[in-house]
Amino acid sequence: MAARMDLDGRPIKPMTICMIGAGGFIGSHLCEKLMAETPHKVLALDVYNDKIKHLLEPDSLPWAGRIEFHRINIKHDSRLEGLIKMADLTINLAAICTPADYNTRPLDTIYSNFIDALPVVKYCSENNKRLIHFSTCEVYGKTIGSFLPKDSPLRKDPAYYVLKEDTSPCIFGSIEKQRWSYACAKQLIERLIYAEGAENGLDFTIVRPFNWIGPRMDFIPGIDGPSEGVPRVLACFSNNLLRREPLKLVDGGQSQRTFVYIKDAIEAVLLMIENPDRANGHIFNVGNPNNEVTVRQLAEMMTQVYTKVSGEPMLQSPSIDVSSKEF
Ligand code: NAD
Repeated sequence: MAARMDLDGRPIKPMTICMIGAGGFIGSHLCEKLMAETPHKVLALDVYNDKIKHLLEPDSLPWAGRIEFHRINIKHDSRLEGLIKMADLTINLAAICTPADYNTRPLDTIYSNFIDALPVVKYCSENNKRLIHFSTCEVYGKTIGSFLPKDSPLRKDPAYYVLKEDTSPCIFGSIEKQRWSYACAKQLIERLIYAEGAENGLDFTIVRPFNWIGPRMDFIPGIDGPSEGVPRVLACFSNNLLRREPLKLVDGGQSQRTFVYIKDAIEAVLLMIENPDRANGHIFNVGNPNNEVTVRQLAEMMTQVYTKVSGEPMLQSPSIDVSSKEF
């Protein structure tokens, strides 16, 4: 493999990466990229490995020996610190990050996104190891515009909906609205990592994904995941289409999303991994503001594509409105 160069034209030394949550959607794509295009070694930690099995077996794979799977639940496993010590860089992707869980499993959500991430931050800081931590775009909370009456012309004024990184106030829902448990836990761990950097010199990078999508994201309930599970929006709609059910639009489907294809997003993460001098101490929003749709538009687009690909006629009512409470 030819020597890889960083953005400043210096050769990149092979490194060992401790990747926590490597068996998930983003982790599986990151492992694939690191194996196919770099000389780096990955200690892949997760409770599951179905999504990276193709990288682990057989032993004849060109990268055999550069990826090692460790079945570990970071909630309670004394091997965690040793694995972080063995690596040059730790990437933490482990989290409960499916919106349907935030209301129904708020405790697990808070523990997973804050409490369980704490020892990872601590071990990195104490052992002078670099950390790349995955946060979320949800840390921005709500816009002031979202509180205006639905028909207010001010809703269309950027002053009320464009967030300014350093000055916009952070508005979250009330404590009873448990949907916010995820965003709050993520924000607090971001603050803790930032403080570790400021007070103890931790070399950190925080990544805030904005709706990364692609293969191996989520599951189709009852097909490759639990039948009672509710996955993220793309898999939810795919499931409805496959079962010939109307797509459920929560509160009119007016929420907006900016989708990014996973392989494009992974390019950005690889740049952070291989350019520590430029990435340390920074928080990166990784999204595509030019690809914004409402959930209703997404439903229409997916229905059209599905009809074309499957050749099945469109349902008479392809979507139905449901309240967020009902959903
Ligand atoms: P995912 O659910 O596919 O992957 C998370 C992985 O972490 C899973 O394989 C899970 O088994 C593992 N994990 C969870 N708890 C663990 C524990 N205690 N011990 C060991 N492993 C554990 O999610 P993803 O989409 O790959 O997201 C990764 C990270 O990116 C998360 O922190 C998430 O909050 C963040 N994020 C993702 C998106 C997105 O667009 N996909 C958006 C915003 C934030």
